[in-house]
Amino acid sequence: MLKQIGDKTYYIENDTNIGIYMTGPDRVCLIDTGSRGDGEKINEILMQQGWSLDFIINTHTHIDHIGGNKYLMEKYNVPAYCTEIDKAFAEYSDLEAAYMNGGKPAGKLRHIFKHPGKIGFKTIEEPPLHGLEWIALPGHTFGMIGVKTPDDVWFLGDAYLSESYMQKRSFGYLVDAGEYLATLEMLKTLEGKLFVPAHGVAEEDIVEILEKNEANQKMLIEAVKEACSGAGLDEIISKMYKVTKMRTNEANHALLSSTVKCYLAYLQDKGEVVSSFEDDVMVWTAIKA
Ligand SMILES: [Zn+2]
Repeated sequence: MLKQIGDKTYYIENDTNIGIYMTGPDRVCLIDTGSRGDGEKINEILMQQGWSLDFIINTHTHIDHIGGNKYLMEKYNVPAYCTEIDKAFAEYSDLEAAYMNGGKPAGKLRHIFKHPGKIGFKTIEEPPLHGLEWIALPGHTFGMIGVKTPDDVWFLGDAYLSESYMQKRSFGYLVDAGEYLATLEMLKTLEGKLFVPAHGVAEEDIVEILEKNEANQKMLIEAVKEACSGAGLDEIISKMYKVTKMRTNEANHALLSSTVKCYLAYLQDKGEVVSSFEDDVMVWTAIKA
């Protein structure tokens, strides 16, 4: 459903919300394009409104944010902008899967995390776009950004989990736990009229939801630390499946194991856990304060 949330700012309520900003009379840009197959749905709405597409901005290049890119970029012959580092993941189709797996995975995972390739991505670090501003929101990916329209509406990608999501599960994918926490803290100071997360509802004040996300992260970090009682990685991941109430499957395993390694790195850098080897198995131990 299309909702107007500013003079020239709209969004399509969707599993991944799609931001829209009017770049001219009957011309728009999109902020994210949802999952595979969403391009056609977005195009139907653009056609109903009589809008043409100027360009796309991707807050980051996860597969549930660039799903409609190929269809729309080809149909309108337009570029998509993202940060240079996230562009690498979008353009090299197996990179995300290999990053999560820690090496090239089998075909099943490569298919799930497959990216579209070199179809016209451009780096957003270059010239400013139609008065749209952006800020770096690292932690969820290396190069995620938030985008502000001149109507003071922020589109914040996956910088925080929504209330309804957190009621069901506590897991959020991360590449850097320290930066993710710093991003949550920074977002509390962000000024704007309305904040739209990629998954969940738009809110005028996000301080409370940010604090709930911080508490959730602290709980997860503490749970990883508690699991470090001479345990190997698989044992720690097994515990975190239970803590996060995540379903076990191969794709979730790639997401969870990659994120657990980020928590271990965060704790190790803070001097709160150490690794050692027992019978050629790497094991993790929390340091008692
Ligand atoms: Zn994401």
